[in-house]
Amino acid sequence: MSQPQKQSHPVEMGPIEPHQRLQKLIADSQRVSIDPTMPINRYYRSGNQIVETADRALRDGNLEKAFTFYLRFVTIFVELILDHPGYKSVLPTDKQQTKDKIKKILPRAEEIRQKLLEKYTGEYRLYLKQLQQEREEQEREEAARRQAKAVAAAAAAAAAVEEASKAAGSTPHPGTSTPSAPPAVAVITDGEAKLIDQVLYPSDFLTDRNHGTGLLLAGEAADRRFDRALKPQPKPSAPVTAPVGFRSIVVPNDTMRKFLELAAANTAANRETCAILAGSLAPAAGFTITHVIFPKQSGTSDSCNTMNEEEIAVVQDRHNLITLGWIHTHPSQTAFLSSVDLHTHCSYQLMLEEAIAIVCSPKYRETGFYNLTPYGMDAISQCRQTGFHPHPAGQPLFNTAQHIILSDAVAVRVIDLR
Ligand SMILES: [Zn+2]
Ligand SMILES: [Zn+2]
Repeated sequence: MSQPQKQSHPVEMGPIEPHQRLQKLIADSQRVSIDPTMPINRYYRSGNQIVETADRALRDGNLEKAFTFYLRFVTIFVELILDHPGYKSVLPTDKQQTKDKIKKILPRAEEIRQKLLEKYTGEYRLYLKQLQQEREEQEREEAARRQAKAVAAAAAAAAAVEEASKAAGSTPHPGTSTPSAPPAVAVITDGEAKLIDQVLYPSDFLTDRNHGTGLLLAGEAADRRFDRALKPQPKPSAPVTAPVGFRSIVVPNDTMRKFLELAAANTAANRETCAILAGSLAPAAGFTITHVIFPKQSGTSDSCNTMNEEEIAVVQDRHNLITLGWIHTHPSQTAFLSSVDLHTHCSYQLMLEEAIAIVCSPKYRETGFYNLTPYGMDAISQCRQTGFHPHPAGQPLFNTAQHIILSDAVAVRVIDLR
């Protein structure tokens, strides 16, 4: 998270009003889209993954994530799916199952909405209270600072008078002594008086801190008060770790080799090949890719379209397999996700946040394991372009998946439906 550089008042940096905050969460949750060029089957196959992710978040006490994923499911299967060109072909049993699920989800989502509103309201009240305390503290510090300055100025003036009278040769009347100054003042010289202006006060720290997290605890302020050695620390570059809450995916080491063997003929003809990565979930161990399924397909040098995806569904049902992502070749290019790949992967990751894309480049001997960043998910969901097209540069849209575990302990099975 980047810290705003410009000075602004704490209020502007603070939490959002509870209802607005909830509205924002709802709007963000609904900022999803489905791709009309993706087989509708893919959405119905993996819809349950969204609900399971939400259930899991709820069990973990992550209300926001649970709410987001329940709402995502509802948005996709109540609204968006109706506009998919394949909607008429969906089996009535699939439609009914989804309806039943929505009936269960809606009251659950409403309950979470209430809880979130309570939580946000509590946090907001606390914030306002802390803000008030902070203001009062700043006022006190300001008053103390002004007083210290005045005392220092008086001491300087007194010293000047003494100098002047010494210069004039007069001595103080023996009976009257100079009014005894308070010890604190007696040790302050002109030079020190100037220094007082350079001392950092807690209010200065507060202002600095407010760029970021907002509030500084009173004790912390006192500790840091005169620590002149304090310098802004360079922000440590963010370590590359798996996104919080992601379950790991075990990728058998032979996945790429076996896939490339069956893709070899296409690769030699400079045609892409693609396949589905499917597997299972063990509650404690996470996902494991157990199958690579080749659907019927037609590839070009830089694209690959699948056909008859319902055949994949049959296979997956038979083996009880979850869709965990996809794998494809770049016969003449390096390993990366093209703009078309990004859109394809977005629909996988929308259904299963851990879904990965493996790209094999035999020519450059590269293998990439990718997923979209949160920013990438949002940007691609909002992008309505098709075919190869540029996406805004700046933040990365995808990165190397950090939640995969390459393993020799499992062997992958290949199912070729071509
Ligand atoms: Zn590609
Ligand atoms: Zn796009």
